Amino acid sequence: MLKIASPGRVNLIGEHTDYSLGYVMPMAINLYTFLEGNKSSFVEIYSESLKSKTSFNLQSLERSNDWSDYIRGIFWILFNNNYNPKGIRGKIYGNLPIGSGLSSSASLELAILEFLNEEYKLNISKMDEAILAKDAENEFVGVPCGVMDQMAIALGKRNYAIFIDTENLHYEYVPFQDIYILIFDTGVRRELANSEYVKRRESVEKALNKLGKMSSKYIESKDLNKLQELQRRFLGYIIRENQRVLEAKDALKNGNLQEFGNIITEAHWDLAKNYGVSSPELDFFVKNALKYGALGARLTGAGFGGSAFAIFTQDPSKIGEKILKDYKRLFSHSAKYFLVESSDGVRKCIR
Ligand code: ADP
Ligand code: MG
Repeated sequence: MLKIASPGRVNLIGEHTDYSLGYVMPMAINLYTFLEGNKSSFVEIYSESLKSKTSFNLQSLERSNDWSDYIRGIFWILFNNNYNPKGIRGKIYGNLPIGSGLSSSASLELAILEFLNEEYKLNISKMDEAILAKDAENEFVGVPCGVMDQMAIALGKRNYAIFIDTENLHYEYVPFQDIYILIFDTGVRRELANSEYVKRRESVEKALNKLGKMSSKYIESKDLNKLQELQRRFLGYIIRENQRVLEAKDALKNGNLQEFGNIITEAHWDLAKNYGVSSPELDFFVKNALKYGALGARLTGAGFGGSAFAIFTQDPSKIGEKILKDYKRLFSHSAKYFLVESSDGVRKCIR
């Protein structure tokens, strides 16, 4: 029996910058998808989280338009790249919330991929695992995500965030210690997220095209004048966000936590006002976390619901409780909070 632990991730800063090949800085967190299983000639996996079982054989890999596509996609991408794993019989379970913006999808993909990599000795590097998982999600599942989530989960390292230049996939570990992170899941499912995400992505890609630039890193404020109003607003945000990621990285390296906090809060309000992806629930959390002493707070993930987080220098359990109580008075969604730490990336559990 092999057991794999695959973390979730929180994006500390660099939101909506990956599809214009800018900077991001995510971190793997200690909420996990676990996969436990044995080798097999076919696939049979039970998801305890969803109380649902999938079984399929490896000769006919078709989409089935449910959660098992994340698993089918991993086999599909491996076969397309001339790897030849056999199957798995096992179960998945864990404490990483599903659909809350903490990337349970990439966590599941990498749990499967790491299992196959270990059991069938595929010899795939962590970086290539990230790229294969991302390709599976893009090309098989059909979700146009960037590679950030998969890199954070594959390459995660305890006590470090990962700074990534998404143009060339160069990355750098940035110390992240003595910081408490409170994650708040607003309980609002991100229905709008898909259409609004695509709208922004297309608009930004068109704008880059018009300016003849591959990456948002090479765009200067003066270039914005050549764009239509909405493109100018979106790209203006992205230029500032790229700059903030660099500054946030320096702040962490210098141990300047208050500076880091200020930068992430500024990023939240820029996302809210100019990129238009926040929500009253996310804003409520950010304001209240700051009121109760957070060094900084922001939404994380695509926005329109999902999760936000705040950073503290002391244990914020009581603050999480207080915000939750206030939140329930105003909103009817079933919110939750989590105290998390940095984590190592996907790995087999020794026992
Ligand atoms: P997020 O990645 O932010 O959690 P997504 O909508 O991208 O949200 O991915 C959630 C989907 O991933 C679920 O709807 C399900 O299809 C799949 N998934 C993630 N974790 C599990 C799990 N433990 N069991 C079954 N399916 C899962
Ligand atoms: Mg996802």
